[in-house]
Amino acid sequence: MAEEKFTAIIVGAGPAGSTAAYMLAKEGLDVLLIERGVAPGSKNMFGGRMYSHALNCIIPNFWEEAPVERPVAREIITFLNGEKSVSLNCQDVSWARPPYHSFTLLRAEFDAWLASKAEEAGAILACGIREDDPLMENGRVVGIRAGEDEMLADVVIAADGVNSILAQKAGLSKMFTAHQVATGVKEIIELSPETISRRFQVEGNNGAVQLFVGDCTKGLQGGGFLYTNKNSVSLGLVISAGALQRNQIKMSEVVEEFKENPHIAPLIEGGQVAEYSAHMVPEAGLGMLPQLFGDGMLVVGDAAGFVLNLGYIIRGMDFAIASGAAAARTVLDAKSRNDFSRQGLSKYREFLKENFVLRDLEAYRTAPQFMENKRLFNEYPKLVTDLVKKLFTVDGTPPVHLLAKVFGQIKEDQISLLQLAMDSWKGAKNL
Ligand SMILES: Cc1cc2nc3c(=O)[nH]c(=O)nc-3n(C[C@H](O)[C@H](O)[C@H](O)COP(=O)(O)OP(=O)(O)OC[C@H]3O[C@@H](n4cnc5c(N)ncnc54)[C@H](O)[C@@H]3O)c2cc1C
Repeated sequence: MAEEKFTAIIVGAGPAGSTAAYMLAKEGLDVLLIERGVAPGSKNMFGGRMYSHALNCIIPNFWEEAPVERPVAREIITFLNGEKSVSLNCQDVSWARPPYHSFTLLRAEFDAWLASKAEEAGAILACGIREDDPLMENGRVVGIRAGEDEMLADVVIAADGVNSILAQKAGLSKMFTAHQVATGVKEIIELSPETISRRFQVEGNNGAVQLFVGDCTKGLQGGGFLYTNKNSVSLGLVISAGALQRNQIKMSEVVEEFKENPHIAPLIEGGQVAEYSAHMVPEAGLGMLPQLFGDGMLVVGDAAGFVLNLGYIIRGMDFAIASGAAAARTVLDAKSRNDFSRQGLSKYREFLKENFVLRDLEAYRTAPQFMENKRLFNEYPKLVTDLVKKLFTVDGTPPVHLLAKVFGQIKEDQISLLQLAMDSWKGAKNL
């Protein structure tokens, strides 16, 4: 039996759903935010860093009240190759001052806080409730069914994450293929704040982010990550689900090897594993976008595939927040005309372009294809580490000038010069 009618029902209290709920409730609309977990964030995981810009537009100076871990002041990219590694290390301490470029955070606390902002603004938050089906009437979404309960709404926002069942059942999306998603696993490893600051050479509560490429994924498309929290580090891997499947490799084995890697083990030495989690990451960019809106429905965040992975930058949280905000704007606009039809909600695409989500995905339209190049995860990390090692080696052999060293190493590693030139060109163009 349908009991109540809301202006908007939002399914999923992740960053996308809670942002939409917050913005709509602030404008006085009747909003129901439902979450299948016992609390927002209880089922959620990510690597560990959120770029601040999107949330700062919605809740200025959010860091003064949000449960963030460390502002990131140092970025490290490490190429791994057996006993060798080469790191590119970039530090800017101004990143760790307002308006803070990015923060590490833990989702259980952060998502609960963001959902509480929506609640404070007037949204009804219902946890421990799983949406089972969209309610459809003449091909349009008019509400949702959760167990025995039916709830009606002018518009339903699918914020239920990657592989959104809601958007699929409403006919707006298809299940993502293994080729379009990656598998992510993460361990939270507890270490003292002093140990973390010392090991990652950061001052006070400043944080560091370290990404790894090469051996850590057994040469498969993907990489490793380490994010410093206050009292722990988030360590994990993201590997193409298709590549894992094709190569019959188990993620659990790769993770154990990663932790034992001679370049990783000292970073986590003495730490206690407090948590293990796994989740899928949408990776195909624009190539996997569903229909973003339909009659009575909008799709936001991971449910819409809004994630950008350039290898050295992973963005999903800021896209989720900004798409939740764009959905809220769309609902307010539709409400002013009382038109929640597909046509009435079509401004969503425009708002997504205005606030960077579609603009950035379009700018990096070809990046996902470029990232499928196996040489990026195999030959090139090997080449970089072999070459840099040679630069630093003094062993009594006749001297070789830099240019000859570079060409010599390329030849020794059996890399085609033409291929390398083409890949460099494509990398510079696509990333
Ligand atoms: C391993 C990994 C590393 C990542 N690293 C980063 C990073 O460092 N930086 C970054 O910006 N992004 C990162 N991402 C991506 C980022 O986590 C996502 O883009 C972001 O969480 C998307 O937010 P969302 O609100 O759309 O979806 P989610 O965070 O997935 O939230 C969806 C919510 O919907 C709920 N839900 C699902 N189905 C139902 C249902 N039927 N009924 C009720 N509730 C439901 C879920 O419980 C959940 O709370 C990473 C992702 C992974 C997996």
